[in-house]
Amino acid sequence: MMMLDWSRRAACLDLDPELFFPISMEGPCQSQVEQAKKICNGCPVREPCLAYALSTRQAHGVWGGTDPDERRSLIAASAVPRQGSAPARPLPGGR
Ligand code: SF4
Repeated sequence: MMMLDWSRRAACLDLDPELFFPISMEGPCQSQVEQAKKICNGCPVREPCLAYALSTRQAHGVWGGTDPDERRSLIAASAVPRQGSAPARPLPGGR
């Protein structure tokens, strides 16, 4: 799978991808989402990760410390331009 340059330094690189892609963003999975966001908060590539997720309209999972609802709000507020097609998830876990 394609790996972006910045993703090689991702704090989540060797972590279980399911932590960042819970089956739900609500209910019992909320603690999982919060745990993923905490990892993002200490990640050296949080900014490019979030920029990538916004520009490629990643609709699922935690990216750059944000959940899908937060990203939709950011996109709506700033009219982030959309880039071409992109892999669904080049990270975490070296995907
Ligand atoms: S999802 Fe993005 S910001 Fe969060 S740990 Fe992984 S690379 Fe870093």
